[in-house]
Amino acid sequence: MIVAIDGPAGAGKSTIATEVAKHLGYQLIDTGAMYRTLAKRAMDLDIDLKDASSVAHLASTLNFKFELHNGENTVSCNGEELGKEIRTAKVSDASSIVSAFAEVRLALLELQREIGQNGDTVLEGRDIGTVVFPKAEVKIFLTASAEARAKRRVAQMRRGGEDSEFETVLSEIVKRDKRDRTRTMSPLIKADDAVEVDSTEYEVKEVVDLVLNLVNERSQQ
Ligand code: C5P
Repeated sequence: MIVAIDGPAGAGKSTIATEVAKHLGYQLIDTGAMYRTLAKRAMDLDIDLKDASSVAHLASTLNFKFELHNGENTVSCNGEELGKEIRTAKVSDASSIVSAFAEVRLALLELQREIGQNGDTVLEGRDIGTVVFPKAEVKIFLTASAEARAKRRVAQMRRGGEDSEFETVLSEIVKRDKRDRTRTMSPLIKADDAVEVDSTEYEVKEVVDLVLNLVNERSQQ
């Protein structure tokens, strides 16, 4: 069973995906973390983010491992656990620059499919239901207004000890969304057969229950 959860930045994908994966005992793949790690490593190595083939080559050297530890989703790359360093505003922006390149997407797509084929999996991202697993049994497209998403991001960053201005976060989100939605390769778009859910209209538990019901329905077919 593949559960695909797609949507724009800050729509609540990680919260929902983690809860669903925990509940079902499925593995969880945060594909955004893969683009973020790639961007961070490229910056650390002084690779030009616009040099698609160098970034794609770097992508082919990365080996990701996703594990759920005490309800927390941990991601490691080449044996190193990833943390807050891949969640900064600079890395968010850089990840959306490198994710627009076809070579880069193809390198990570292969990895995502490989890990997803290990068994029952929840994947969150932008193109899971459209490109990575177009035959996913359950597809959710999670949305919310840009303002609501920015508000959530600011609160999340504050909880992590990072201070940020609402206006700045809002403009970063709008800029990143535009880039993600308008790129030629695998743009952020709802799959025709995905269920669209506006996360501002429901509690987390309601969205999780909706996904679990869909999984249940599909597993009985
Ligand atoms: O989901 P998250 O905000 O961590 O993703 C960071 C960036 O990675 C996105 O803005 C997008 O550019 C890219 N991404 C993507 N395809 C995915 C997941 C993330 O292009 N499946």
